[in-house]
Amino acid sequence: MRISFQGAARQVTGSLHAVMSDKDLIFLDCGMFQGKRQQSRELNSVIPYDPDLITNILLSHAHIDHCGRIPLITKQDRFTGHIISTHATADACKYLLKDSAKIQESDAAYINYKTVKRFLHELDRSSSRPHISRKELKKLKKQLKSKPHRLNQSLIDELLDRFNLNRIWPLYTTSDAEDAIDSFRPTNCTRPVRVGKNMSATFYNAGHILGSAMISLQINENGKKKTVMYTGDLGRFDKPIIKDPNHQFNKEDKEVDLLIMESTYGDRLHEPVVDLKPLLKEVIIETFQRNGVIMIPAFSYGRTQELIYYLHELYLENEVPKMPVYVDSPLAINITKVFGEHPETYDQDTHEIFLENGLNPFMFPEIQYVNSVQDSMNLNRSSEPHIVLAGSGMCEGGRILHHFRHRIADKRNTILVVGYMAQHTLGRRILDMGLEYEQSGRKGQPPEVRLYGSDYKLAARVKRLGGFSAHGDKDEMTRFLKESGLIIKRIAVVHGEEEQSLSFCRHLQKEGYQAFVPKHGETIEM
Ligand SMILES: [Zn+2]
Repeated sequence: MRISFQGAARQVTGSLHAVMSDKDLIFLDCGMFQGKRQQSRELNSVIPYDPDLITNILLSHAHIDHCGRIPLITKQDRFTGHIISTHATADACKYLLKDSAKIQESDAAYINYKTVKRFLHELDRSSSRPHISRKELKKLKKQLKSKPHRLNQSLIDELLDRFNLNRIWPLYTTSDAEDAIDSFRPTNCTRPVRVGKNMSATFYNAGHILGSAMISLQINENGKKKTVMYTGDLGRFDKPIIKDPNHQFNKEDKEVDLLIMESTYGDRLHEPVVDLKPLLKEVIIETFQRNGVIMIPAFSYGRTQELIYYLHELYLENEVPKMPVYVDSPLAINITKVFGEHPETYDQDTHEIFLENGLNPFMFPEIQYVNSVQDSMNLNRSSEPHIVLAGSGMCEGGRILHHFRHRIADKRNTILVVGYMAQHTLGRRILDMGLEYEQSGRKGQPPEVRLYGSDYKLAARVKRLGGFSAHGDKDEMTRFLKESGLIIKRIAVVHGEEEQSLSFCRHLQKEGYQAFVPKHGETIEM
């Protein structure tokens, strides 16, 4: 049998590891590459195997860098397999894959808009315009946007056809995502399930995000048994809501021939999980005293629910003034519903603090879920102190921008950064400039940020709450290996920037493991 590393090798996105026996081809995850637009598009449009050869796809969890390419396979009739995941992952994918499709559709629309705009611009500058008058050209350029932020899709389509311009199609559409959802066959943790002619798999809780799993794959080839285990993304210990990473494996899964292990933070140590609540408390009290609003850009899946959990706990303990909390994101509302439907994934604390007292961790008197655009706009105008959670997590779009537009220039307010802000995102600029201004003692004029084409003073306080990472750090991943009792022959280190993976690999070797970092596209024999 062979294993081929077709994504998330020496990088963090595009997870896809192919396990091939003489009878089956199994994908462990089928995730999307993320990063620079053009490069990611090219990587994402290639599926390295013929769809009719793929037996099944085993999915570790619902993050897009692990599941985002599934619709590309299921939309081809030649794929006859299923997507096997936990129940909670399948439920979360219902919303996340459709959301991903919408992003693909709007990305394609934007690229097409740019193509048309560039073409009209060039026409305008050229001396010979055989098919179009200057007057019509001027009118068309004006009409490309129907509203400042909305593209005039039908006109863009018409012009692409009329001038025979290169049209970009979305990688997949909402209806492709809906078809993909029909291919899911959820399974329970710790019970083996048949996934191929000579393969079975057992899912174990990975503690990374609701529904996340490690997958142990048993392969019987020519009378020989091999075990391949895949960590997916490995969570932290003592995180709120979900259980810690599993460390009790069934007997038949204990001897592992190859462990495919993530290394996102293979060279880093996080702040401890327990420090979060006091910091959150401090920010709430300070902002309340200033009569301000706390704006929290948060990812809809995971981070939002953790924050709701902590806020609920602080409110139950009467530790903070009880300002209203608004969750202003339709996706976050749907995902929170999925969290509510899967108490089997909750840890002991969540049971003791909430469920045993008849409380839903995501429901309390001060919380309101804001679905409609109208209610969201009304919230922008509210003058009472409150907390609002909205997407997108890195402030690259979504409703958080409208809250910023109304409140960023007011020094009573706080922007609370709870997640990773990648380089070149608005979130990162706000974080860097805001913290620098704070450190200077807020001397002089506040820095300026650009929102919707205008400059705004960043007078709101910028605070960062670390420790929310959903990935175990170097020590936590080592702790998992030690406590798991697994007897491991070899470890393939994946899902990390190259330095993180190489450093974690060296650390594993020092700990006595045989470890290596595969390259993208590398195939090993077992
Ligand atoms: Zn993940």
